[in-house]
Amino acid sequence: MLFEKYLIPDYMFERYDEITPAFLASIGVRALLIDIDNTLAPYEQPDPDERNFAWVAAMREAGVGLTFVSNNHRARVERFAAPLGIPAYWDAGKPMRKTLDIAMAALGSGVEDTAMLGDQLLTDAYAGKHIGLRTLIVPPIRDKRSLFVRAKRWIERPYIRKYRRMH
Ligand SMILES: [Mg+2]
Repeated sequence: MLFEKYLIPDYMFERYDEITPAFLASIGVRALLIDIDNTLAPYEQPDPDERNFAWVAAMREAGVGLTFVSNNHRARVERFAAPLGIPAYWDAGKPMRKTLDIAMAALGSGVEDTAMLGDQLLTDAYAGKHIGLRTLIVPPIRDKRSLFVRAKRWIERPYIRKYRRMH
């Protein structure tokens, strides 16, 4: 498939907080663009929890630049991001590149030292890969079992399998 290389994650983790500053340093990443929904928290969780705070604190202490890039709306994104003190872009339009470029400019980072962290191959992985970022993908924390979401997972499955064969 034509865009297949953009759908295969570079790294997969069981949870976002398995990603450590040491790992990021080992792959030369010093800035993260982070999806919120089903990556750091399920849709139904409006506020960050203790795990979110602990992980963000560890990243910040290590000097990793953090920015939220979410396709969700302003109210959700601002409410989640503000207590963590993380700059946030809502209605980001992933997989389009525009908001990722704006976020990287604000962070002062570039394609070589920035990674995209998210749960969806068709938005997060594609958005990151097609502009040359490394992509860190976690399984969705809690899937909505709608027909639409199940269809997306079905489309994603072969790329997850491909990743597993490569690692
Ligand atoms: Mg998500």
